[in-house]
Amino acid sequence: EVVVCRLGHRPGRDDRMTTHVGLTARALGADRVIFPDNATDAVETAEDITDRFGGPFTAELVEKPAAVVRNWEGPIAHLTMYGEPVQTVESEIRSTVTEGDDPLLVVVGAEKVPFEMYEQADWNVGVTNQPHSEIAGLAVFLDRLFDGDELDREWVDASRKVVPKETGKLVLPVSEE
Ligand code: SAM
Repeated sequence: EVVVCRLGHRPGRDDRMTTHVGLTARALGADRVIFPDNATDAVETAEDITDRFGGPFTAELVEKPAAVVRNWEGPIAHLTMYGEPVQTVESEIRSTVTEGDDPLLVVVGAEKVPFEMYEQADWNVGVTNQPHSEIAGLAVFLDRLFDGDELDREWVDASRKVVPKETGKLVLPVSEE
């Protein structure tokens, strides 16, 4: 299991970013996302998209995401521009997910990340050592973790499905079997 944890959320300013952390986690193969409890809209959007386009995927609110990290029993990968290059640690992290039973927690920040996070993580992972975005970092990290397999996954319990088209848009209802 792969769980994404968003450390902070500034209502207004972070609304789209937090929502997109959830949608990116879902689309690129994570099983679950954890948001701070002031990010209710982001949970609703993740649930709405999962209802329509399928899952399994869950989104939840917690009072203190930092406490989730502190008490996490499985491995923890914290995405940060100061970390070790993703290309050097990805195979080790992938082995812990495929060979171990404990869920991997992937932590992304918002504003300033407390120093404890760097100490609590088993890996501090840089997707380049350049400053950019938690959404971009998460997308590249998950794609590396799953080695691209997430691009071919099947979605369960969807009510609609996009049919890829060279031009135009085609969305079909999915009949229940
Ligand atoms: N300035 C903040 C700090 O130093 O703690 C970080 C702000 S940054 C806009 C928000 C988040 O994006 C970070 O916490 C990190 O999770 C992610 N991020 C930004 N650049 C990254 C990179 N090169 N590799 C991995 N994650 C990155």
